[in-house]
Amino acid sequence: MNNAIDLAEKLISAPSVTPATGLVFDVMEAMLEPLGFEVHRFVKGEEPDGPVENLFAIRRGPEGSKHFAFAGHLDVVPPGEGWTSAPFAPEQRGDLLYGRGAVDMKGSIASMVAAMADVPADAGTVSFIITGDEEGPAVYGTRALIDFMKESGDTPDLCLVGEPTSVNQLGDMIKIGRRGSVNIWIEVEGTQGHVAYPHLADNPLPKLVAILAELDALVLDEGTEWFQPSNLEITDLEVGNPAHNVIPAKATARISIRFNDTHSGASLSELVGAIAERHGGAAKPIISGEPFLTPPGDFSRIVAEAVKAETGLDPEPSTTGGTSDARFLRAVCPVIEFGLCNATMHKRDEAVAMEDLQTLARIYARIAKAVLSA
Ligand SMILES: [Zn+2]
Repeated sequence: MNNAIDLAEKLISAPSVTPATGLVFDVMEAMLEPLGFEVHRFVKGEEPDGPVENLFAIRRGPEGSKHFAFAGHLDVVPPGEGWTSAPFAPEQRGDLLYGRGAVDMKGSIASMVAAMADVPADAGTVSFIITGDEEGPAVYGTRALIDFMKESGDTPDLCLVGEPTSVNQLGDMIKIGRRGSVNIWIEVEGTQGHVAYPHLADNPLPKLVAILAELDALVLDEGTEWFQPSNLEITDLEVGNPAHNVIPAKATARISIRFNDTHSGASLSELVGAIAERHGGAAKPIISGEPFLTPPGDFSRIVAEAVKAETGLDPEPSTTGGTSDARFLRAVCPVIEFGLCNATMHKRDEAVAMEDLQTLARIYARIAKAVLSA
């Protein structure tokens, strides 16, 4: 088996702050070609959301064999200040490997590649769906890869996303779904005027306060068997009124809703829009993802058994946390997410336990082999 630690170091050494192109994909291509993969790369989009590089690599099994895909991203969030060692110069200290992307998710991708040495070419078709824009707006990333796969007729039967889903120990949690996410901007227009002459003005603030009070009091649902209750947070409130004696002309606010599969982005937008309108306001939603669930079954059982065999743990099937590219991939095939411990992701001094990289490679190899032979 290729050394997952070496591979992770090579990937971390190629800086790739989102949106990523170029070098890090050269490194990835150089890893996959010797393993018999046919590598396709393409760049999409323009500033500010692009350009974004995407990579689709496939190793075809015998005619009619199953197609299993690993999916992930090579872009990383900006490193920020105050690192102990340089963020793009991987450094081993003690049992840990430090560097931006160590857990989210160059480390997981290194383990996926390392796993391939252990999966015979005739076991079936395996592909890598790798984008350079998961951490950013994700406009030209995985969605473009899905279009590419549809055009080439290479859509997988099952897909594993390598996001860092483990919490305290490698293998303690897998994600079988994700909540949806919608941000909604609320605006109330009034008429500006002197506070001493309120009959000549129309203050938008009491209306906005009434809208927000009603939204904040909503109970969206009680949760489901697999999802926690949907949650609405008020995230911004802006009037920008520097004068103590002026009734402002406009007031705005923003809310963010993380929701389970009893709602859709559209149903919540409609609900919030109706409340805003009743108080004389207007609402503008941007839906960033719909919820999805891969109900527990054969695929989650295969993943859980592989985890158990290598770690002794029974992973908890969860739908918690933020959104990921699984929100797009689930339109293609059933998706499960499993990867490294997420404690240091997006933080300064991001680090992975080197032993976890090797264990994860063995888990990924087990999953690929079990899926392909099922
Ligand atoms: Zn990630």
